[in-house]
Amino acid sequence: MSRPTNALIDLAAIRHNYRTAKALSAGAQVVAVVKANGYGHGAIPVARALDAEADSFAVACTEEAMELREVGIRRPILLLEGVFDPAELVIADHAKLTPVIHSLRQLDWLLQARPARAFDVWLKMDSGMHRIGLAPEDFAAAYAKLERCQHVRQIVLMSHLARADELDSDATEHQLACFRRYTNAIDAPRSLANSAAVLAWPATHYEWVRPGIMLYGATPLNAPHPHSGRLQTTMRLESTLISIRELAAGEAIGYGARYVCKKPTRVGVVAIGYADGYPRHARDGTPVVVKDRPSSIIGRVSMDMLTIDLSAIPDASIGDPVQLWGDQVSANDVASASNTIAYQLFTGISRRVPLCYADCATISTSGICSVRDKQQDLGRPRY
Ligand SMILES: *Cc1c(COP(=O)(O)O)cnc(C)c1O
Repeated sequence: MSRPTNALIDLAAIRHNYRTAKALSAGAQVVAVVKANGYGHGAIPVARALDAEADSFAVACTEEAMELREVGIRRPILLLEGVFDPAELVIADHAKLTPVIHSLRQLDWLLQARPARAFDVWLKMDSGMHRIGLAPEDFAAAYAKLERCQHVRQIVLMSHLARADELDSDATEHQLACFRRYTNAIDAPRSLANSAAVLAWPATHYEWVRPGIMLYGATPLNAPHPHSGRLQTTMRLESTLISIRELAAGEAIGYGARYVCKKPTRVGVVAIGYADGYPRHARDGTPVVVKDRPSSIIGRVSMDMLTIDLSAIPDASIGDPVQLWGDQVSANDVASASNTIAYQLFTGISRRVPLCYADCATISTSGICSVRDKQQDLGRPRY
């Protein structure tokens, strides 16, 4: 018997969420964003699960792209930050990758390259986020150079939204207006929407959308929205109780004695900690589920263990399953109790946690994932 801590990944749910993105952005092509090891879900299994239908994949760098090419993924792969030096264009050429061009430097590298075949490229504008992208005033001239270039084929015009998750902000309208104004005279496909915009800002959908987090079942929106309910949970992080003790009122728990029992308290110890990717900043009261019943964190999360309040679950016993997030505890709720976002929780799952692949619905919530065979290696990047 090995450590009973793992992340169960539901590839069918990821496919469902991809189809939801496709349906919400009717008519648009969909780039499935699988950067950062598929938001912690395993880029290779995720890409394989979507390979039959995704219009394109997107990653952050050529290393991530090559992982997918090496296992036979043939769909277009978008490099969201483009290449980091001119030599990387040789790799991008051989592997048929689609670079973003977000700077005049990258534009020069591309124009001076002598690739074996023509590149498809995405030209990125800074429409207000002020991170990467060409200044709007430089955009038309850059496009004209690409259009004249012999070794450039399709050009997609793109920008990225800074506040699409905030349903009450007018920043998205401003960015959309800027993007529209500086691309209107250009006859080329356009792309602006991340997950939040796919869900809540239909005017941004254009010809290509780029959902990431919604594929992994977490809504990025800061307020309730009817479409959020259409997403299915894709990751269940689980472990078990390894110790139970009764503490008297006044006794403290764990490092720094952050939690002091107000009354006699039944405390459970769970075999998961911050070295597994569970957030150390989780406050007292952060939800967990034990045997289908609600419980919560008490005391500081340690490296390999955390402590929970079992006072309301008198029949809980050692070996019982504990869900840290998944279908019964939303990753967004754990994230907000820990001052972070579901993106960081998913991408922070450490290599010590085996990724198991199964349909969450077919593995009962009262039994820890037992699919602990070789599949777990599939989810780990090799570089
Ligand atoms: C990561 C990323 C996305 C996906 O964002 P989500 O909020 O996860 O949907 C889209 N576009 C770009 C440029 C990105 O870097």
